[in-house]
Amino acid sequence: MELITQAPRGTKDVLPGESAAIRRIELNAMAAAERFGYNEIRTPVFEHTELFERGVGNDTDVVQKEMYTFLDKGGRSITLRPEGTAGAARACIEHGLLAESLPCKVSYISTCYRYEKPQAGRYREFSQFGAECFGPTEAAADAEVIALAVTVLSDLGGAGAYSVQLNSIGCPTCRKNYTAALRAYFAAKAETLCGTCLGRLERNPMRILDCKSPICKEIAAGSPLITDYICEDCKAHFEKLQALLQNMNIPYVLNPRLVRGLDYYTRTVFEFVSHESATEGLVFCGGGRYDGLVEELGGPPTPALGFGMGIERTYAVLQAAGTPLPGKSSPEIYIAARGEAATQAARIAADLRRSGRRAEVDLMGRSLKAQMKAANKSGAAFCAVIGESELTAGKCTVKAMQGDESYEVPLASFAASFAAKQA
Ligand code: ATP
Ligand code: MG
Repeated sequence: MELITQAPRGTKDVLPGESAAIRRIELNAMAAAERFGYNEIRTPVFEHTELFERGVGNDTDVVQKEMYTFLDKGGRSITLRPEGTAGAARACIEHGLLAESLPCKVSYISTCYRYEKPQAGRYREFSQFGAECFGPTEAAADAEVIALAVTVLSDLGGAGAYSVQLNSIGCPTCRKNYTAALRAYFAAKAETLCGTCLGRLERNPMRILDCKSPICKEIAAGSPLITDYICEDCKAHFEKLQALLQNMNIPYVLNPRLVRGLDYYTRTVFEFVSHESATEGLVFCGGGRYDGLVEELGGPPTPALGFGMGIERTYAVLQAAGTPLPGKSSPEIYIAARGEAATQAARIAADLRRSGRRAEVDLMGRSLKAQMKAANKSGAAFCAVIGESELTAGKCTVKAMQGDESYEVPLASFAASFAAKQA
């Protein structure tokens, strides 16, 4: 029995007490994206496994260890999306959106799946708010994308809760020398690296910088810096981005060892890191430029950039910062009634709801006294009791639950009279 009364490991129910806060975050994010010219895209929860192998990269933790992959009944290898970028890029290629006027800007809220070891802020099912911008090479686009993520947080009241870490990991050309330098550095310490990083040493030593093992982290702390290898073009692009951010009053911290978990990044990479004590160091948003991805997936060569912001982690950071977020909603009015009068109460509640009001009536067959208790518990702002005498008089009294405001309303035009008083 335990199996059916316990959610699978790494999943999380969002109960009524928290769902309004989560919805606020999601709606705010999508609304901010709209102000930046992004339109929503909805792509499938599952895709062909090859899309992620190509689009996320074979050397990544996501592809090597974390994908939910299975054969469907037709024998095709299918994977539940571990992130949103690859699917968005695939859809834009497939539907020819990249052949239309650029930039093509899309945003989404997507449920993602990764087979990870569950812990605080790390689930097997989680949601991302994502924004992807296809087309621009200009640093102005990088600045705009970062400004969007910053705006989402300031809209939500979380402006002071985090810092933006920024780096440029260069282009494939300037990265060649850097990769060689990293390989030489890590090869000299090969016997202390973790098994996974040992495998990365030949293929993709930059990945070692993103390893979570404390020993690899310690070794990585002395590694060569990209700053010393970046080419003139990439350097100019990065400097332009910084000038634009400064001009927009967006503070950032340079972190020359910041690389991103996915293979397809070029030039700009960034992460939003919480500095609230309860979520200290938690990375809740990450993104950057991925100029090679669209072509890698078989589309027209199209520079692109974007980010993914984890909804659950953003919620945790906002909570840690004490940001006010909505909770469970409470009725504006509770109408208590029994028997014959309950029929009137049900009609009045229906009228109120049709006119946009939050109204409650008893559905549990409670006594009037118990209904008043329930009204109190529900947090209703007003209540009205319809008893025998009210029914006869054709009117009742609306009372504020706090304070002593009260007034009479006719039963026949309850909803309209209540609305007039509330205005
Ligand atoms: P981490 O280093 O914590 O594993 P990541 O680099 O794998 O993160 P990204 O692929 O950049 O994460 O995903 C973007 C965002 O999605 C993260 O910043 C985080 O907010 C969220 N995210 C990623 N994996 C998870 C997870 N397992 N549970 C909850 N949120 C996640
Ligand atoms: Mg991860």
